[in-house]
Amino acid sequence: MTKILKINRRRPEVPKIRIAAEVLRKGGLVAFPTETVYGLGADALNAAAVRKIFEVKGRPFDNPLIVHIADRKEVCRLAKEIPDNARELMNEFWPGPLTLVLKKSEVVPDVTTGGLDTVAVRMPDNKIALAMIKEAGVAVAAPSANIFSKPSPTSAAHVAHDLYGKVDVIIDGGVARIGVESTVVDLTTTPPTLLRPGGISLEDLKKVLGRVVLHPAVRVEKTRITAKSPGMKYRHYAPDASVIVVEGRRRKVGRKMRQLVEEYKRKGKIVGVMATNRRCGYTADVVKFAGNDPAAVAKNLFKVFRKFDEEGVDVILAEGVGEKGLGLAIMNRLKKAAYKVVKA
Ligand code: AMP
Ligand code: MG
Repeated sequence: MTKILKINRRRPEVPKIRIAAEVLRKGGLVAFPTETVYGLGADALNAAAVRKIFEVKGRPFDNPLIVHIADRKEVCRLAKEIPDNARELMNEFWPGPLTLVLKKSEVVPDVTTGGLDTVAVRMPDNKIALAMIKEAGVAVAAPSANIFSKPSPTSAAHVAHDLYGKVDVIIDGGVARIGVESTVVDLTTTPPTLLRPGGISLEDLKKVLGRVVLHPAVRVEKTRITAKSPGMKYRHYAPDASVIVVEGRRRKVGRKMRQLVEEYKRKGKIVGVMATNRRCGYTADVVKFAGNDPAAVAKNLFKVFRKFDEEGVDVILAEGVGEKGLGLAIMNRLKKAAYKVVKA
């Protein structure tokens, strides 16, 4: 049985927080809101509890989890060493959508870190999440609260769609403010490596760290060209419909999109378009406006993916966005979800 707890995001009700915290302490699973997306949490130091996260999501065991904390001092327990740049990043961006990868201490079980000798840690900027973690008194390992490879959940309804009946508690704390996952930066390398772009931009990271290198997987398509298995190896965050991303100059993208809409309609497909301009004039079967600035697109992206599936679309043509600021995270998610990326 899954208990749904509706909690006020501004003034979390203490008795409800206690219920969720108690479940975590006893080794259960709680889906909870964060500012990025909803997380599926378990006591990070309880290997049996963490194993359940992987089973419920269908997530491969070599895919490590992020450990969520509510007190900076917890990092000292989870990490073997804390470099100066980690402290600077915590001061600047915590609580917030930034995950730090550090050398792990002995207390963190292998299942939590996917067998790696590093641990990923973050302090979420959400009152419900922070109150729950504090009350539980345990660090909370949590990936996104969706079935593996599906779009991440940005509302409790999305979580319930994927996980109702499989977890102990789903907290409903409203819509996620940012809508894409946290930025993951590895501080065990010199210079630090950006492993996943997210809620904190690369530009902001560089202001604190100076040089940051991008892991090759961040801009997926290059990897994909060598992998030669479109839509397979790196597919992630993906709706049931096939996503085709069109990137390039804005005017050219519009023209290419219109051409592709007609092409797929002729093939008898139900065609959806994800647009970033309300007056785009696309003649697709379903047109969804994701927003016209990066913050809006990030917030709506996964919701729009799920809506297309509800409406039975076969193909989603998505307008690419510029890779500045949050745009890098948006393009990363679009490309990971994509069956193919087309240059306009
Ligand atoms: P999710 O929360 O489902 O979006 O997944 C957690 C993300 O954090 C994944 O992209 C992981 O690869 C990444 N991550 C977690 N722990 C580590 C680690 N120790 N080293 C590198 N990446 C990590
Ligand atoms: Mg995920």
